[in-house]
Amino acid sequence: MLIRLADSRSVKGEILIVNILLATSEAVPYAKTGGLADVCGTLPLELARLGHRPILVLPAYRRALWCGVPIDPMGIEFIVPIGSKTVTGRLLQSKLPGGEVPVYLIQQDQYYDRAELYREKDKDYVDNCERFVFFCRAVLELVRLLELNVDLLHVNDWQTGLIPAYLKLEYRNLPRYRNIATLFTIHNLAYQGSFWHWDMLLTGLDWRHFNWREMEFYGKLNLMKTGLIFADSLNTVSRRYAEEIQTPEFGFGLQSVLQHRRGVLTGILNGVNRKEWDPATDRFLAANYTIETVDHGKPICKAALQEKFGLPRRAAVPVVGVIGRIAHQKGFDLIASILPKWAESEDVQWVILGKGDSTLEERFRRFAAQYPQKVAVRIDFCDDSAHLIEAGADMFLMPSRFEPCGLNQMYSLLYGSVPIVRETGGLADTIVDTSERTLVERTANGFSFVQDSPVALNETLHRACAAYARRDIWRQLIDTGMRQDWSWQRSARQYAALYEETARRGAASA
Ligand code: ADP
Repeated sequence: MLIRLADSRSVKGEILIVNILLATSEAVPYAKTGGLADVCGTLPLELARLGHRPILVLPAYRRALWCGVPIDPMGIEFIVPIGSKTVTGRLLQSKLPGGEVPVYLIQQDQYYDRAELYREKDKDYVDNCERFVFFCRAVLELVRLLELNVDLLHVNDWQTGLIPAYLKLEYRNLPRYRNIATLFTIHNLAYQGSFWHWDMLLTGLDWRHFNWREMEFYGKLNLMKTGLIFADSLNTVSRRYAEEIQTPEFGFGLQSVLQHRRGVLTGILNGVNRKEWDPATDRFLAANYTIETVDHGKPICKAALQEKFGLPRRAAVPVVGVIGRIAHQKGFDLIASILPKWAESEDVQWVILGKGDSTLEERFRRFAAQYPQKVAVRIDFCDDSAHLIEAGADMFLMPSRFEPCGLNQMYSLLYGSVPIVRETGGLADTIVDTSERTLVERTANGFSFVQDSPVALNETLHRACAAYARRDIWRQLIDTGMRQDWSWQRSARQYAALYEETARRGAASA
């Protein structure tokens, strides 16, 4: 088997160079709604540095075309079947800023020339299934159209879940596709791409695959499940989340499927894009700082944050920062349930940035109006404000109900803002709660709580505020967090190893 694999790759020194096609529904800087985009925009650059040959492919959304990165038409059109009709797409090309990674964008304006990526006004686009059936078919056609040598197809979340199925069921016997192995990464199991059964017709796959062992899930077509079943390997974005999703509490119904496939399921923590997130070079900050100059730089950033968000400029009062999708997952309702009491009785400032559930958004707007001296709220998706908060806050709160990996807590560690998190998923894998023992061991880097309850959140915030008052302890927490390595190099090396393993697995099952 290994001899055949080696045929399709070249060997440079010790590294087997793998041709990786990474298919995603979002990637920075082209289009982003969450952490998936950070991963897919950064991982390929690091893989290229390790000697691999990655290629990125994503839809040509309106905002991708306007993102400022040069994108050129290739003059290549293709046609794929969607149900009983055929749909034409075009290929565009670009290059991932910061390296030489080729990027291909699939243009189909009826599907992708829209204001948002997946949903508007709290409602998913009604043709989401069709939009991503088209994308999945287009990714496979790309291999043929550009005569790509692909050893491994790395697909991400439900939007790309059909790719491993098409590969196994339709493309497997074509020469260019025979040796392609597939890795499916779960970035968030809560979003499954679940559609009514008649959408099976759009896929063009035989109805016999619409069964509980393959694509069907409680009477619906489930594209996440399809990916989980047909891919050679599975991973998710932290070890803890890889364990959690095998339980009913976190599995969103797919726990049995994941238990069944646990032999090929692993967890790899995401890294931080240090070009974007580094307090020493961050272009959005009022002052840049490092671990040596944090005591000087951070107070300047804190004052700038207070000013920008209309809060009184007070150096001694702790500032709690919050950034994220305003969703049940992120525990914004837990924050809302304790915020009025904190605003009334504690000398603490809150800076909250987020967008999402409109009812919760409204609650936070009201808090800001009611407590203007203590609570500042911006309902927006705003990258520069996110940077200001990470640098200017003293503490960063993330009380997520579940969190596959979470990036903001890692940014906080690097920016010397002490994270307060719920002990779940990637938050559990990155944050060590402060206790007498962990302080002595010098492993403490934040605060965490287990119970999904306002009481637990309240108690942990009080613990954090007590520690904030002890400058020696607080300085140690900042120091521990800022020294840790959350780089993509580390994660990319783990992905490289997983690609090798997946290629062997794929070859063994072919
Ligand atoms: P998720 O992907 O579940 O939304 P992550 O923590 O993995 O959560 O990644 C979220 C990413 O999106 C981070 O880079 C975070 O800074 C960014 N982000 C989330 N909400 C906002 C916002 N309102 N404004 C700016 N950036 C945001």
